[in-house]
Amino acid sequence: MEALKLYNIRFTGLKNGFHDFDYEIKGDFFKAFDGSLIQEADLKVALTLERKTNGLDLHFKTTGFLTLPCDRCLQAVNVPVSDESELLVKFSANPAESTDSIWYLPTTAWEINVGQYLYETLSLLMPLRVSCEVGESGHCQSDFETLMQKYDGSNADSEESSDVDPRWEKLKNLKLN
Ligand SMILES: [Zn+2]
Repeated sequence: MEALKLYNIRFTGLKNGFHDFDYEIKGDFFKAFDGSLIQEADLKVALTLERKTNGLDLHFKTTGFLTLPCDRCLQAVNVPVSDESELLVKFSANPAESTDSIWYLPTTAWEINVGQYLYETLSLLMPLRVSCEVGESGHCQSDFETLMQKYDGSNADSEESSDVDPRWEKLKNLKLN
């Protein structure tokens, strides 16, 4: 995928030791994947890659926010996220089957692309529930509406209770006698 070219790492040119890569990930990144539930984001990913003779250790540190609709009022909410993850790449003449966190590559490999890995890892940061309370405003539009309804309702209630029908008062007296 063209959009993921940025996430190519040619490790053959890297000396053994630590190398830093920084990525800024926004909505465009997620839109490159069909069916992504994340459409807007502002994330910084700091990748520290350790090049070894027989593999690579990649440590990802993510901070920023995902922009998601509030479950209740559908307003866009900036949900803060922070995460760390590890990916190991092992070179082998007979590569075993790769897993989510360990990739086995033939010894002839010379580059990797971490775009798909980042997409899958970052998608897991989506909270089960999204609420305006975690965003900057801290107030949900639907709470405001509930409050308005409550205010209208309690107003009507207090009118009823303070204006007691005088005929009821008379009935009460009758019963007591
Ligand atoms: Zn809301």
